[in-house]
Amino acid sequence: MYIKQTIEQLAPYVPGIQPQMDGRVIKINANENPYPPSPRVKEILSEFDYGQLRYYPDATSQRLRTLIGTHFNLSSGHVFCGNGSDEIIAYLFQICLEEGDSIATPYPTYTLYKTIADIHRVHTEYVPTRDDFSIDIEALINTGAKGIFIANPNAQTGLLLPLAEIEYLLQNYEGLVVIDEAYIDFAPATASAYELVARYPNLVVLRTFSKSHSLCGIRVGFCLAAPMLVDALDKCRDSYNVSHLSQLMAAAAFEDQLYLQKTIKQVVATRERVRETLISLGFEVLPSQANFLLCKPQHHTAGEIYEFLKSKQIYVRYFDAPRLSDQLRISVGTDDEMDVLLEQLIEFLGD
Ligand SMILES: *Cc1c(COP(=O)(O)O)cnc(C)c1O
Repeated sequence: MYIKQTIEQLAPYVPGIQPQMDGRVIKINANENPYPPSPRVKEILSEFDYGQLRYYPDATSQRLRTLIGTHFNLSSGHVFCGNGSDEIIAYLFQICLEEGDSIATPYPTYTLYKTIADIHRVHTEYVPTRDDFSIDIEALINTGAKGIFIANPNAQTGLLLPLAEIEYLLQNYEGLVVIDEAYIDFAPATASAYELVARYPNLVVLRTFSKSHSLCGIRVGFCLAAPMLVDALDKCRDSYNVSHLSQLMAAAAFEDQLYLQKTIKQVVATRERVRETLISLGFEVLPSQANFLLCKPQHHTAGEIYEFLKSKQIYVRYFDAPRLSDQLRISVGTDDEMDVLLEQLIEFLGD
């Protein structure tokens, strides 16, 4: 069978290991939320009439778009919903980038941007972050690329790019600007770029239900953007891209802002506590504003610690990649999970 060369040569996106989850496994390698989704999601499932499944879902996820638009003080015409924000990233390539174009993105960052760019034969220009992993906006602009993708807080580092720098970028660059806010709910409320959507027609703010709403499993993401971009996304999406149950569950979770704030607060408190303990154990730990910590051990290699933790059924993330191979990325779990992690680390480092 003939497979396109672009695809045959593609380095596939590598997710964290999904181990069999028996009672002792601690999975803190994919930035999943350690707490369950809102109890309202459970109600939706238990009250759901399965006979409804013979109908196609609402093609435009209209109720969800309206809820989201209202929350962000935008019209529903500024909202697009996707089967995970990953799907929306792929659609953005379809509507804004031609074969042979370039995108610019900091390094390190979420590797999926490059994977999807490769599929669309778009070149990825990686712009190195500074020694402290901060993002160099001027260098991104100077690439002259047709689109700029920034995860904020950034993937792998957790560092937050100040809103003023995002606005500076928008004032000085006319190409597509995608601010991927997958982790923004774990940062201070003023950090989001969503208010700029009404003023900059080239801005896309990407969000997901996966991380802060604990709903990785239902695959729902959304973006906020000018109606012209939303209309273009609607033209190229799968006719029924978000399933009926996913729309219902996402809406229920989104309406429960109180529960959302409660879990975020807990994750942030645990993150800060673990960060301080890791520093006291001799790790260098970046000041993350996300639900994970990137940390560099002192007297052992990151690979050794990764293997040791794995042997104890504690799964963290190790990237054998430039600038990251001396680091471990640890997702924030429950306090109990973090206590087990820290005990094991103390034991290992003491030997
Ligand atoms: C987890 C993550 C996503 C994926 O979101 P989905 O909605 O689950 O597809 C997108 N961007 C970044 C930076 C992420 O870390």
